[in-house]
Amino acid sequence: MKLSGMILVCALIFSTYTNASEAIGYYSSGKLKDGDSIIERGTPVHKLFMQRGRFFGTQIMQDTISDAADFVRQTYPDAEQLQIGDIAQKGGGVLKEHGSHQNGLDADIVYLTKNKKLQSQNAAFWEEEFVKNGVVSENLDLERSLNLFRYLVTTHPVERIFVDVAIKKAFCTYAKKNNLLTDKDYVEALRRLRVEDLHTNHFHMRLTCPKTDMSCKSQAAVPAGSGC
Ligand SMILES: [Zn+2]
Repeated sequence: MKLSGMILVCALIFSTYTNASEAIGYYSSGKLKDGDSIIERGTPVHKLFMQRGRFFGTQIMQDTISDAADFVRQTYPDAEQLQIGDIAQKGGGVLKEHGSHQNGLDADIVYLTKNKKLQSQNAAFWEEEFVKNGVVSENLDLERSLNLFRYLVTTHPVERIFVDVAIKKAFCTYAKKNNLLTDKDYVEALRRLRVEDLHTNHFHMRLTCPKTDMSCKSQAAVPAGSGC
């Protein structure tokens, strides 16, 4: 092939690559270009709030959710399918009921449970609360959920995982009791668990800006240590 031909092929490959999804701006003031729909892609998850249409994320978000679902299925064959709440709407932008979820890098996911019960796909709101009067429900499977977090933070560009204050405490207590704080991967998982209100019924997974997305604005790094 002549040099000019090779340059053309390279340019085509590069443009196909860069024409992939793009996260623009910040999590709470951004947009999503050419996002992937979790429904069209047929990702094997249990999508909640179907009527809201918030199926869209960056490609890396779609891959992360798909890999998380695979991890759960392979590690715990009897587990419920991974339950996904809102990601972003087509094109991203402001989403009612959320401060963020604007650039395709945020997704809400139900904690793994002991009774493995799936919520209705068309309910208007979460059907299960995992914290009542400051006490974490027995039904929240701490072991499975923490192992899912550990998998996510060590294999995917997960920036933060927002959880309720009582839930973070419960994970810390569980980790101490089972002597997990000597394992750097568990410490890393706990480090990424950030306390945030309104996360008693789900956790919120936030990904870092993809390197290719030049106008994506990153968040300050999470401080070192488990925070327990
Ligand atoms: Zn969220």
